[in-house]
Amino acid sequence: MKARQVNKRKNVAILFSGGDSPGMNAFARAFVRLGCNCYDSNILGVKDGYLGLVRSCQKLSCGALTSEDFESLLIDRRGQFGISCLDQDVVWLDGESVSGLARRGGIFLGCARCPEFFKSVFRREVVNLLAKLRIDSLVTCGGEGTLQGAQQLARESQLQVLGVPATIDNDTPGTETAIGVDTALNTIVEAVSRFSHTADSHHRIMVLEIMGRNSGYLAQTSALAAGAEIVVTPERGNLDEAKMRGIAERVERLMLKGRRHAIILVAEGVQVSPVADAGPAKALSDYLAAHFSHLRGPLNRIESRHSVLGHLQRGGAPSVADCILANQFAVSAWEEISANHQKGGILALTHGRMRLQPFGRSRRDLIRDRRSQYLLQKHVSKRWRGDSPHDIGQSERGGIQVAFAKR
Ligand code: ATP
Repeated sequence: MKARQVNKRKNVAILFSGGDSPGMNAFARAFVRLGCNCYDSNILGVKDGYLGLVRSCQKLSCGALTSEDFESLLIDRRGQFGISCLDQDVVWLDGESVSGLARRGGIFLGCARCPEFFKSVFRREVVNLLAKLRIDSLVTCGGEGTLQGAQQLARESQLQVLGVPATIDNDTPGTETAIGVDTALNTIVEAVSRFSHTADSHHRIMVLEIMGRNSGYLAQTSALAAGAEIVVTPERGNLDEAKMRGIAERVERLMLKGRRHAIILVAEGVQVSPVADAGPAKALSDYLAAHFSHLRGPLNRIESRHSVLGHLQRGGAPSVADCILANQFAVSAWEEISANHQKGGILALTHGRMRLQPFGRSRRDLIRDRRSQYLLQKHVSKRWRGDSPHDIGQSERGGIQVAFAKR
């Protein structure tokens, strides 16, 4: 990469917000090293996302810290030392302070949700604080919520605000993928493979709940990669009695044809109707257990179990693809900062290219992608059409082509 000098030494703040995702550390490392080595810039790391900024404002406004003390602490406690000081929420970073992060999961600066940031009064204080620190650009790394917070800040200040999509949910409009998605998919696929081995031994149905907030992307995509029989996502409506009966009947047909187990992936955002106390995976698993217990013959012995993958999906070392993606985002962020146009927006990967998208893209694109994936998974997971395993007709093949063509 060619080093490009910016007109003046820039001060750039960086924060990680929302839920963590694997690859955030790799992004932080690349961003800080590029800033120090190629762009001769100062990089301020903010701990715990927007919360670190709000906490700093509160300390200053309640008098726990004077402005002078705040600024001299920042000078005295730089790099690794400042990171280890629990009472310090912002710290100037250097190349050394991001050592060892290339393949470490989580995020070394911490990451949090911050309800205060929804209120303009807190955001105004944050804007004043960043002005006092002479910050030129703010880089926010996180999911859809984090980028909405970034959009608000950009609207309400003169700052250049850049959003970097980093979320396992892959629910950020405008970009094809985000930092952490590939690793989470690999984790889920590995888990599904383990569950399928034990389910096959015990002639069981496994219903697995996949984290992903209101998005069915992870469940849908991992179903395709791992070979799950059925996938239930929020994009396809509520999980009501009719849908559960349909699933039970489909699993029953599979078992009658000799299948020893079935894997069903349910996205956590699926709403059970009528509302149940349990999550969607447990509700469906209980329904299936009851359905099979009422059958006669060998199918009567089929059990159904559920498991929630939860935060397991967020942890672990990032995949190679996520590490590379994180580095690409870092390069792209510095290109925008050094261009000196002060234009903000979301860095997005589209058709293999990094671009700066304006804030506030619609979610319509996401929904179209999900539908084509649904069709593909549906066709690929079907072993037999009709009675014969070889009876795959022309219309079915046409359906698969449609699914590919739409992508
Ligand atoms: P993940 O995808 O991992 O859930 P996320 O970034 O979508 O990450 P959220 O909890 O939705 O996680 O948002 C993170 C934080 O961003 C919120 O706690 C809040 O501080 C800020 N935020 C979200 N939406 C807004 C908004 N509309 N206005 C201002 N700030 C917001």
